[in-house]
Amino acid sequence: MSVPLPPIEVDFPDLARWGTGNAGTPYLWTFGGERAGPHVLLQALTHGNEVCGAIALDWLLAEGFRPARGTVSFCFANVAAYETFDPDKPFDSRLITHNLNRIWSPAWLDGNEDSVELRRAREMRPAVAAADHILDIHSTSQDVVPFWVYPSFERNAAVARALVRPEVHLVMPVGLGSGTPLIQHGAHGQADGAGAALVVECGQHFKQATADLATDVAQNFLAHFGLIDRPMPNPTASPRRFELLRTHVIKHPSFAFARPVIGFETFAEGELIATDGAEEIRAPCDDCTIFMPARIVIVGREGVYLTKPMRS
Ligand SMILES: [Zn+2]
Repeated sequence: MSVPLPPIEVDFPDLARWGTGNAGTPYLWTFGGERAGPHVLLQALTHGNEVCGAIALDWLLAEGFRPARGTVSFCFANVAAYETFDPDKPFDSRLITHNLNRIWSPAWLDGNEDSVELRRAREMRPAVAAADHILDIHSTSQDVVPFWVYPSFERNAAVARALVRPEVHLVMPVGLGSGTPLIQHGAHGQADGAGAALVVECGQHFKQATADLATDVAQNFLAHFGLIDRPMPNPTASPRRFELLRTHVIKHPSFAFARPVIGFETFAEGELIATDGAEEIRAPCDDCTIFMPARIVIVGREGVYLTKPMRS
């Protein structure tokens, strides 16, 4: 099945100039302010083709950004995958071997396997552990509204509400899913942890609006923690919040959705969402809302996220 490719509206920044880093780790830049304050990590390119975060951090670095207080770290995570970008195959540069957003458990990080992503995660691990608050900047294959993703701790929800944009929240119960994402590494995955850690999905990978939102949210995140002065946007409505019920990982090459989907479609309880070999994936509740349906079928990758709307 051939799927039409989306237009590529943005230029991909040349990141070579940031390759040395300034803190002993390639593509990692850390700057301290004159006054004490929290350490905030802004991360781009956890997935190699999600260019919006790279555009945001490339701009902040090129502007010579320095925090008024606290410490900021800018990290371009999977540059190896980013550098394989091919406009004729724009989805292939997501990763080389491992999903860099599923390997943040001690089992993977301390294990014996090797890959570009595991080496990079091990190299980044001290910087991630040193950060009080983390913003991990992503984008989506499909052209859907932007949204937050975060473990269901109030400290994360409070940040998402305070930043206002985006106004959709996908709340993950801890320990449900297909691996350990960056934002659940160490203390950020613990109920008694102190720091916030959120993913922001800024829109379709290659749209200019996605890069613009990534740049805006990155600055709002820094402002929220006092690193810069910047007024927050005013809320226009209460955020729409969804609770992740389950992540379906594709088991069979015949995986297919029951109807064409891009995300945010809703299904009645019991309604067929997709089939995967002999398995039927049916909505476990009314108003079951799907997120991030797979654009193409790759066995072992996530096929779809099933969620239900939350009351608040
Ligand atoms: Zn991503």
